[in-house]
Amino acid sequence: MKKGIHPPYGPARVVCACGNTFETGSTKKELRVEICSRCHPFFTGVRRTVEARGRAERFKKKYGL
Ligand SMILES: [Zn+2]
Repeated sequence: MKKGIHPPYGPARVVCACGNTFETGSTKKELRVEICSRCHPFFTGVRRTVEARGRAERFKKKYGL
């Protein structure tokens, strides 16, 4: 096994634009991301909640509830 071919792989701190930080494995010491599992709508479900609320309100208007 030769040394120095692969960059060292170890724990890295990921810093998100939302302020959240978490650890992952990477060849870099620090990673900067603009979206993470905490602030992404796909993971948080915020977008789904908003859409569901919009549908419910349209339903109420349509049927005069
Ligand atoms: Zn984030």
